[in-house]
Amino acid sequence: MEQIQALYPLLGSPRKVVITTHQKPDADAMGSSLGLAAVLKKLGHQVTVVSPTNWAGWLNWMSGVDQVIDFEHNREKVAGILNDTEWLFCLDFNIFHRTKHLAGLLAAANCTKILIDHHQEPDTPNFNYGISNTGKSSTCEMIYDFIQESGNDHLLDQDIAAALYAGVMADTGSFRFPAASASVHLMVARLKATGLNHTKVHENVYDNFLENRLRFIGHILSNRMEVYYELNTALIAISKKDLLRYQIKTGDTDGLVNYPLSIQGIKMAALVIDRDEERKWSFRSKGDFDVNTFARRHFEGGGHFNASGGRSSDSLESTVHHFQQVIKNYAEELG
Ligand code: 5GP
Ligand code: MN
Repeated sequence: MEQIQALYPLLGSPRKVVITTHQKPDADAMGSSLGLAAVLKKLGHQVTVVSPTNWAGWLNWMSGVDQVIDFEHNREKVAGILNDTEWLFCLDFNIFHRTKHLAGLLAAANCTKILIDHHQEPDTPNFNYGISNTGKSSTCEMIYDFIQESGNDHLLDQDIAAALYAGVMADTGSFRFPAASASVHLMVARLKATGLNHTKVHENVYDNFLENRLRFIGHILSNRMEVYYELNTALIAISKKDLLRYQIKTGDTDGLVNYPLSIQGIKMAALVIDRDEERKWSFRSKGDFDVNTFARRHFEGGGHFNASGGRSSDSLESTVHHFQQVIKNYAEELG
């Protein structure tokens, strides 16, 4: 993989471009994709943003989101576009299988592939150009760097600023995590200069749910959370029945895994949801417990040091049991 800087001189000649991101895109995935798309369009490129799956309704305020193609509902159309594209940008993920059923088409696409991502263990041999930096707060910060370094600061506008702000806000836990560096705050200062209304972005992302979601959280925290004080660990397991009863939609469970970390002394929080085709895990930690390695080792996953995810094909009951067994091996680190 060549350094991303080698791409900058090529940005001047218009190309057919596809931008894609991980399945069930979150604010960072969608914000970085739409921010980059807007800038490349201003440079004269023909840009299509493809999402591997659907996304949360609370992302629909972002400018350009109405033109994002959901691959699962437009498979042939996306196959055609990928067949014809010259550049493929892969944002906020670093291995094709994070795009679920889109993975095969991405791997097979005969075009220049560009990676911009901040997760661990990138699959660099499969990309022509790119940057992978786990020190970066968010992919949105990396898109901002891309815009700056390629000499395109003048193309920033309020819509791009809002999309990029949403991603960096979400991935830094509203500027709370250690990754919220001085550069992040300098970036925000520049975004504010476009006229960005950051209060509105926060409301759009965090105060944009229906009543059922709040009642669901109440139910889950009262009835579905177990705390293992000897291991400073908490687990939340959500069944299909819970999801149906509260009419839970894509994005409604985002952030739920963070609640147990507000309990004094808790070092690791785990959340598992019984999705149709698999049991999806989320892991969060505080301090020096590495949930990236934990997810890789035990749940076919990965991510960051303090935030990761994984999956299992077992039943909810079995995968919960597996978790309860394996955490006992971490008594020293967690206890
Ligand atoms: P979340 O719990 O919010 O879904 O994911 C937390 C972090 O872990 C995100 O950065 C996400 O990209 C990563 N992640 C989530 N699930 C997986 C997975 O199955 N595999 C890998 N490699 N990373 C994941
Ligand atoms: Mn991210």
